[in-house]
Amino acid sequence: MTSTLTRRSLLTAGAALALPRALRAQGLFDTDVVIVGAGPAGLGAARACARAAKRFVMLEARDRIGGRVFTDTSLGAPFDAGAFYIHWAERNPWRPIAAELGVALRDENELPSGAWLSFENGAPVERSGRRRQFAELTRRFDTDLSEVPDVSFAERVADAPDLLPGARGMARMAVGEEAERVSALDYARLWSGDDLIVPEGYGALVQRFGAAFPVKLSTPVTHIRWDGQGVVVESPAGRLTARAVIVTVPVGVLAAGAIRFTPELPALTQEGLGGLSMGALTKIGLRFDGTRFGLPVNSNLWDEVPGAGGINFECWSFDRDLIVAVFGGDFARAVLAQGEQAAVETMLDRLTAMLGPQVRAAFKGASVNGWATDPFSMGCYSHALPGQASARAKLAQPVGERIWFAGEATAAGDGDFGAAMTAGGAFLAGEAAARAVRG
Ligand SMILES: Cc1cc2nc3c(=O)[nH]c(=O)nc-3n(C[C@H](O)[C@H](O)[C@H](O)COP(=O)(O)OP(=O)(O)OC[C@H]3O[C@@H](n4cnc5c(N)ncnc54)[C@H](O)[C@@H]3O)c2cc1C
Repeated sequence: MTSTLTRRSLLTAGAALALPRALRAQGLFDTDVVIVGAGPAGLGAARACARAAKRFVMLEARDRIGGRVFTDTSLGAPFDAGAFYIHWAERNPWRPIAAELGVALRDENELPSGAWLSFENGAPVERSGRRRQFAELTRRFDTDLSEVPDVSFAERVADAPDLLPGARGMARMAVGEEAERVSALDYARLWSGDDLIVPEGYGALVQRFGAAFPVKLSTPVTHIRWDGQGVVVESPAGRLTARAVIVTVPVGVLAAGAIRFTPELPALTQEGLGGLSMGALTKIGLRFDGTRFGLPVNSNLWDEVPGAGGINFECWSFDRDLIVAVFGGDFARAVLAQGEQAAVETMLDRLTAMLGPQVRAAFKGASVNGWATDPFSMGCYSHALPGQASARAKLAQPVGERIWFAGEATAAGDGDFGAAMTAGGAFLAGEAAARAVRG
């Protein structure tokens, strides 16, 4: 949906929320706060602004809200192409939001468990010794933080080469990146807790919540000026002045220079950005009709791609006729570089090698969600590079009391950045930024 921004429409967007403040700001700025991006962080900021009666305008590049939390319905049966788990549900804001909206959540452990099968290039393999390796990896990566140095995943297991394949697998599937490029300390800081799932779709929940807030869709911000009073935010739809701007676009988008800043961002912010990168976790949904290849609901096929990683094929979740291929790292980048059609063919070839020729006969369609090639995400989620575990804190520092970078990359949680990488953390970061902005 494209819309033309006019001063009048911008003023009316937030006017109902805060008339007295609107009157105070009148004549100086178009609005109090511009929120760039309508993913979880943007929506967290919007709710906090609304509650504090701060006027805001939310600008979103895509033709939908939700960002990387997106329930893909293009195959007839829904699947979450981005975020799936409500992590650390005990303190995740999406849990009470779901309760308020009457959206059911489930504990995955209560669902029927299907088959777990491992293959290498189509041939079944026994995966022995995994349990011991997993316990040792957990000890090294998910432990007392004082013991975790700011080195790469690969370096963290340098004294135990038998753990390297496991560390590579963890880096690719949990972060979407190669083990040499991920800080073990940044990863070890992440919060853990109960993981809940949203049968209706995490993206559907976010959409439902976000429907309450005004947003200008199909409006990519291209330039932010902060050389005068307040900020001037430019998009193809026009210029907008505000006291402050909350920028929630992914760090990959910022690093690509999609938004120009005048003057340039301070050295500290640039250091923060330079210390972060985005992984390439990718999901391809595949629809099949007429057969389930003898696999029960909630089965997983792990398909090892020697030297490159592996693909987890999640089969028939929620009893739907879908297999979702999940993979990351450089292998994902190489698959996406072939183009969507070729990426789907690769998935079908690998499934055929494991399950037989009926795969192609039953195949009905696919949907490729290549977040690493999507210009509005440029990756799946952020991680600190080795030696750069302080990068999130640097990026989280407000600039000139006018620009706040808020999103999963700066999700401080209670100060340790343990909420990073998640939709819950992004919401909290957006909320915190909106509270910090002077109204
Ligand atoms: C495959 C995958 C699996 C994941 N799994 C999980 C999970 O299980 N649990 C979990 O909690 N998290 C998960 N995540 C991460 C989660 O999706 C993100 O942490 C969360 O979406 C971050 O929210 P955000 O608001 O910071 O950024 P986003 O969701 O990316 O929102 C930012 C918004 O900014 C918009 N934008 C970009 N450029 C511009 C511009 N120039 N102008 C205006 N708007 C712009 C984007 O379109 C987007 O809507 C996953 C992500 C992926 C990709």
